[in-house]
Amino acid sequence: MNMNAIAIGLLRGDEGKGKIVDYLAKDYDIVVRFQGGPNAGHTIYRGTEKIVLHQIPSAILDQKICVIGHGCIIDVDKLYEEIVMLIDTCSLTEDYFRRYLKISKGCHVITETHVEKDKLREDSGKGNGSTKAGISFCYSDKYLREGIRICDYVNEHPVYELIENILIDDTYYFNYEAKDKKILFEGAQGVFSDIDNPLYPNVSSSHVSVGGAMIGSGISFNAMRDAKVVGIVKAYMSSVGVGKFLTEFNEQDFITPKGVHTYKADSLREVGQEYGATTGRPRMVGFLDLPMIKYACDTIGVTELCITRLDTLSNWLHVEDVEYFPVCVGYKFENTDQIVDEISWYNIDRYQPVYKMFPKWHSYVHDEKLDNFISYIEKFIGVKVKYISIGKNQEDIIEIV
Ligand code: GDP
Repeated sequence: MNMNAIAIGLLRGDEGKGKIVDYLAKDYDIVVRFQGGPNAGHTIYRGTEKIVLHQIPSAILDQKICVIGHGCIIDVDKLYEEIVMLIDTCSLTEDYFRRYLKISKGCHVITETHVEKDKLREDSGKGNGSTKAGISFCYSDKYLREGIRICDYVNEHPVYELIENILIDDTYYFNYEAKDKKILFEGAQGVFSDIDNPLYPNVSSSHVSVGGAMIGSGISFNAMRDAKVVGIVKAYMSSVGVGKFLTEFNEQDFITPKGVHTYKADSLREVGQEYGATTGRPRMVGFLDLPMIKYACDTIGVTELCITRLDTLSNWLHVEDVEYFPVCVGYKFENTDQIVDEISWYNIDRYQPVYKMFPKWHSYVHDEKLDNFISYIEKFIGVKVKYISIGKNQEDIIEIV
């Protein structure tokens, strides 16, 4: 194991990465975003103060060097708003940003035209549920070689005065200047929103993977070959935007050891406040899907798992007044009895989830039911669950030793 690490969501975003990165960052010198733009919203709390970051890495308040790598795209108005918001709410100074924030000269800039085109496409019904932030159009122009990079952009915008001196040549920075530093990479969205994920076109525009971290930052393979890979997953599924996932439900009956229960998605959405952070749209919700998580773990080589939102799952079961909850542990192929735990994600319509019922726990420490649930996940996926999260704050992260 070398010193570096990467924290990535395993599903389609909203796994709770912000708080986890903020927590992990204490052991690192530098935190790096390597893909995506202001469509991601990472939430951290300082006491009761809720801070939502879109482009700046989640460790900015921890006096860590925070880098926005060239795999990211930047909306300069929003970046400026984010900096001003942090200055206002966290009593930071411009000098603080000059000291702790670094931006790659190679980041592409999101223009008004990108945003306009995105809005038009979504409003025409032809989009794929984007946040209308211009992300796809900016990345498209990048690959058409018609994009504008931060280093190409000369502007009167006040953010340029601020960021002029904090731009880095990233490959130089990571492989020379910061070579001996401990670096934590922070993925945005999730493995199932990687542009090359089989669920294309219902994906994002960038690479959510360890490879993506190298490409989007300029760090060498040698510096990443043994990195710790922390896969972050919620205790249930959710997704904003379009495109199905197999365990999605609205109302579904299951036989529990105490009789039939109708599980309701509306109550899970309400308890978990599952509405899009940027758009307010209700998210699709579903049951935890272990083969899906295993696929994500195998794809990016996860070495440690973090399960968030165990409290939301518990609270939902309390509201539903039920002692058991379903978890997908395999799939049936085209209504046959053949059960498999690996599927072709290119043909997900041909599979139906197979569930196992688990009893709910009553405590997060020394509770046999929770311990058994976690052991089952570890065995199924072949990766240790190192962290569980039972609330919104840093103190709600339990490290399992
Ligand atoms: P990201 O897209 O993965 O970065 O997701 P965020 O970091 O923005 O988290 C999504 C929401 O989940 C935010 O409102 C967080 O405060 C909340 N959250 C994260 N972890 C937990 C948890 O363990 N329990 C509860 N109840 N909320 C959490």
